[in-house]
Amino acid sequence: MRKNYLLTPGPTPLPPQVCGAMARPIIHHRTPQFQAELKEAEEGLKYVFQTVNDVYMFASSGTGAMEAAVVNLLSPGDTVVTVEAGKFGERWTDICKAYGIICEVIRVPWGQAVNPADIAAKIEASGNKVKAVFTTLCETSTGVTHDIRAIGSVVKDTPAVLVVDAISGLGAIPLATDAWSCDVVVSGSQKGLMLPPGLGFISVSAKAWKLAGNSKCPRYYFDLTKAKKALEKNDTAYTPAITLIIALNEALRIMKQDTMEKVFARHKKMADAVRAAVAAMGLKLLAADASSDVVTAVKLPDGIDGEKLVKTMRDTYGVTIAGGQDALKGKLVRIAHMGYIEEFDIIAGISCLEKVLAQMGYGFILGAGVKAAEEVFLK
Ligand SMILES: *Cc1c(COP(=O)(O)O)cnc(C)c1O
Repeated sequence: MRKNYLLTPGPTPLPPQVCGAMARPIIHHRTPQFQAELKEAEEGLKYVFQTVNDVYMFASSGTGAMEAAVVNLLSPGDTVVTVEAGKFGERWTDICKAYGIICEVIRVPWGQAVNPADIAAKIEASGNKVKAVFTTLCETSTGVTHDIRAIGSVVKDTPAVLVVDAISGLGAIPLATDAWSCDVVVSGSQKGLMLPPGLGFISVSAKAWKLAGNSKCPRYYFDLTKAKKALEKNDTAYTPAITLIIALNEALRIMKQDTMEKVFARHKKMADAVRAAVAAMGLKLLAADASSDVVTAVKLPDGIDGEKLVKTMRDTYGVTIAGGQDALKGKLVRIAHMGYIEEFDIIAGISCLEKVLAQMGYGFILGAGVKAAEEVFLK
């Protein structure tokens, strides 16, 4: 027998209500029954995105929604700013380059947050030629939360639109799309929204629609104008991911019942517990100053093989966490506490981390991490 715990930054565990919804017989999408589901999903998404604008859904992973942002806003030869503070910030540059868009890249060391003033300076230095600024709410590869509110306040008075990859942060940490002047926010289903992968989401402001009007990038499936036209009739342009949208309503119901304030407070508590636990074990965070409440990136001591650690936790004990990417491969573990995660999931995860680190010869007081986490949960 094996019981599995999933503490990765996507996919995340599924609530039983979500699993139950996906076991129901499928319905047809051009029906009043599905239209009611779509309407409910739209309303729930607006609540989670904290926007009055429409949120469009694609049958894709989150990266599909990222590509939709690029191809609908821009034309080949346009200039944009991308913030590269990790693997997912780099993805914005990669997608833009694939469409012949010129990227003014702001490189931030992995583990740090971007300084909003650097974004303002780049826009100004371009003579306001920059059409869009591409950022990340939570840089999942480093566990850093960027200050999107502050970035929004510097971008809002420029001609540029602000695009935010909130794939791993939405529904886990605060993001006030409208109040923070985020023009385009993209997300995906398999992170804070507690669903399987397969849905990409994108919200679009009036300022972004204006820019979209001049966009000449080639596109077909990811055409937002088609998505908008369909949604005006409470419909979708192509066959939607029917089952996932019905399951989305179950997840949204859970979030609405809790309220976003409580959802954010729970994520903060889980993150506080993990941070306290790893500190008590003598381990350091990669993002000392801006560690997110979504995923905690923990530096491993010299001599501990991170790949082996992750593999042993998963294959021997059924606890899946993530390792480091690129230059941080083998040197880092990332413990996610996003979505359907409660305190005893965290205790199990920390306990397993302690067990395998002890087996690998790392010297620390066994139980120190679990004790520190429990103390956070007792508060
Ligand atoms: C997971 C993730 C992505 C990629 O999403 P896919 O669903 O795998 O396409 C992009 N950005 C961030 C910040 C993520 O966490």
